[in-house]
Amino acid sequence: MSAPGAASAGPLEINGRRYAWPRRPVVVVCVDGSEAAYHERAVADGRMPFLESMLARGGDLRADCTMPSFTNPNNLSIATGAPPSVHGICGNYFYDPDADAEVMMNDPALLRAPTIFAGFGARSARVAVITAKDKLRRLLGHGLAGGVCFSAEKAGEATEEEHGVGKVLERVGMAQPSVYSAELSELVMAAGAAVLESDRPELTYLSLTDYIQHKHAPGSPAANDFYAMLDGWFERIDALGAVLVITADHGMNAKSDADGSARVVFLQDVLDARLGAGAARVVLPITDPYTVHHGALGSYATVHLPGGADAAAVAAELVALQGVEELLTRQQACRRFELPGDRIGDLVVVAERNTVLGTTPARHDISGFTEPLRSHGGLSEQRVPFLVNSPVPALPSGHRLRNFDGFWVGTAIAAGAPLS
Ligand SMILES: [Zn+2]
Repeated sequence: MSAPGAASAGPLEINGRRYAWPRRPVVVVCVDGSEAAYHERAVADGRMPFLESMLARGGDLRADCTMPSFTNPNNLSIATGAPPSVHGICGNYFYDPDADAEVMMNDPALLRAPTIFAGFGARSARVAVITAKDKLRRLLGHGLAGGVCFSAEKAGEATEEEHGVGKVLERVGMAQPSVYSAELSELVMAAGAAVLESDRPELTYLSLTDYIQHKHAPGSPAANDFYAMLDGWFERIDALGAVLVITADHGMNAKSDADGSARVVFLQDVLDARLGAGAARVVLPITDPYTVHHGALGSYATVHLPGGADAAAVAAELVALQGVEELLTRQQACRRFELPGDRIGDLVVVAERNTVLGTTPARHDISGFTEPLRSHGGLSEQRVPFLVNSPVPALPSGHRLRNFDGFWVGTAIAAGAPLS
């Protein structure tokens, strides 16, 4: 290990992958819920002139995100360069049958792998991690000594001593935004650009919020305004000389009928009718303290069955439900989706593109929704943009590009190294 302050120039191995030491800053932006149609429509409508020129000279790729296509698993995958089977975070919460407890997965104690940030930080790299919501900050910042790490949600509380930067709002000239706003993402971008300019961190990770994408379809005025705002910050980061990788944690689709009413399969009701009330437990890992914009409805669920239940018969009943796309056993789901087997149920259910999974109607209040439901979680939201402001070196033969390849690709470009 090198002495503090003396940045080491050799490659690093983190979670079995090799990262080149960057010779210029690398910035990965996770645009939460950024279905490709959002930037494609904004470019077509002339609202992202910088991105249009960037894609003409750089990389305009698509990548697969981690399943379930939710925020926390994918942010931790991007941060560790690995799937949930390695880092352990497979949703916003899981059910622990031994403790008979639902456990929120925002505690770093549940993280099973070091982050790329901690790995580079230990070699005296400067690292900046800025998230929109505070729920991710502790997980993403785990093990990162020094460096910048704070959430826009609590930007006003960030201090030089504890978060590596203080007076954030004053520095960027913004008021504290609401947690349910587009400005929360704008603050992440503005703060990221400011830190890039002043500190020139080797690695910067900017993680936004999908508040806009949950409410507004691609090409709508609010969506185009949001992407036009992002375009200005992408241009700024590019002008500061960084390698810029723009990806997403998951896509986003309408989950409603033509009349705008949500299309929901209520799994707990189906299981209660078959097995008795409460005998099986449906876990919706999208559930978190911020349910205002999705009503805890996503296209992925996992089911814990009572002892002695005929799993094959239950699976056959669930897969026959209209709106269910895939039904996997725990083993099948672990293999196909690279999930940690001890943090999912006996069955994994994936809904079709325009359908979400719920427990029972009383537990999903979407009566206050002013727009038709838009959400994610399924295979239909797995394909995400992977946009780079430089040409992308050749991928190793047979490599399936993932959103969690962001720092691997970015550091290779910034080092002038091949991808290996
Ligand atoms: Zn998300």
